[in-house]
Amino acid sequence: MLPRLLLPALLLFFACDTNRPLVESSAPVTMAKKPKNIILLIGDGMAAAQVSAGIYWHGIGSSVWERFEVIGFHKSHSFNERVTDSAAGATAFACGQKTKNSAIGVVPPDYQPCTTILEALDKQGFATGMVVSCSATHATPASFIAHVDIRAYTEAIADDYLKTPIDCFVGGGRGYFDDRPDKKNLLDSLRERGYVIRTGTSFNRLPLNGSAPFMLFTDEREPPSAFAGRYYLPVATEKVSDYLTKRSKKGFFLMVEGSQIDWALHANDTRWLKSEMLDFDATVSAALRFAESNGETLVIVTGDHECGGIGLNGDNLRWQFDPVYTTRLHSAALVPVYAYGPKAELFYGIYENTEIYYKMWEALGIEQVESK
Ligand code: MG
Ligand code: ZN
Repeated sequence: MLPRLLLPALLLFFACDTNRPLVESSAPVTMAKKPKNIILLIGDGMAAAQVSAGIYWHGIGSSVWERFEVIGFHKSHSFNERVTDSAAGATAFACGQKTKNSAIGVVPPDYQPCTTILEALDKQGFATGMVVSCSATHATPASFIAHVDIRAYTEAIADDYLKTPIDCFVGGGRGYFDDRPDKKNLLDSLRERGYVIRTGTSFNRLPLNGSAPFMLFTDEREPPSAFAGRYYLPVATEKVSDYLTKRSKKGFFLMVEGSQIDWALHANDTRWLKSEMLDFDATVSAALRFAESNGETLVIVTGDHECGGIGLNGDNLRWQFDPVYTTRLHSAALVPVYAYGPKAELFYGIYENTEIYYKMWEALGIEQVESK
C-alpha cells in the first residue's frame, strides 16, 4: 500500500501532465457553484400533455420549454389518495412531506404544522415572495405560509400571513384580509408592520428599491383569466425577482404560480387553457431572463398534478387541434420538472414530489433542517 501522504503527491504529479486536457476550463460556470436564489414556478394542473399543447400553441422551437436542458418527473400522489389535490401537492413541495388532500401546511400523523421552506429561509435571512394568478388564500400559495387542515378556511389562511414576514406578495384576495365575517382588518396589522399595501396591477408606487415589504393585491377575490385581460404574472415575476435581490444580500426564495391553468382544465375550456399556457410561457421566460442575467439563480418549473386527463389527438398540420378531455378532475399522470441554473442537475430522474423540497435545500447547500 502507498503511504497516505504519497497518494495526493502522485495525483498532483499526474494532474500536471501537460498531455491531459484541462476539462475544468470548459465546464459551464453556472453548474460549478451553488445558487443564491431559487425561483420555483408551479403551473397548477400542468403535466406533459399541457406543456405539449403549450409548445404547439406557442410555435415549435420557440417556446420556453425547449430551452431547458435538465428535465425530470415527479410522482404527485398524496398521503391518502392516488390523485392529489393542490393543497397536498403544494405542501409536498413546501414541507417535503406527503399529506392528505385539502391539508395546507399540516402533515400526518397528527396534522400539526410543518415549517415550510419559505418560512425556514425567511428565518435564515433570505428574502421571500410569492406571485400568483389566484388569491393569497388559495391552496398553492397558502401551503407555503399557512397551516390549516381544511383549505376552505380562507380567513384562517389570511391570518397566517401575519405570522411570517414574507417580503412581498402579488396576487388576488384582498377581501380575505379586510372584508371578513369577523370584521378584522389584517391590512391595518400589515401596515403597522411596515408593509406597503397597494391595489391594482401597477408597479409604479411600490418600494421596488427594497426599502419596505409590500403586498400588491390585483383583485378583491380571484383575478380574471388571461384571456379576459389579466397580464401581470410575467411582469411581476421579473420585478419581484429584482426587488428581492435588494431585500437581502443572502439570497431569496420566490414561488410563482400559474394558478388558472388548473381552473381552465376543470372547466374543459380550451380557449382559457391556451391563454393560461401562453401566459405561463411568458412568465417562465421572464424568470429565465432574470436568472440568465443574475447568474446565481436556480429556476425550477413544475406542476402540482395533471388535470383534465387531456389527450392531444391528431388533427391537421396547422396545429389547430383541440385537446380531448377525459375528466373534469385531476389525474395521476407523472408531472415534468424543468430546471435551469446552478445545481439544476439535481432535478434529473423520477422521484416523489416531496423530493423537490429536499433538492432545493441540497442546491442551496444548507444543512437539512427538520421541517416539523
Ligand atoms: Mg393552485
Ligand atoms: Zn384543481
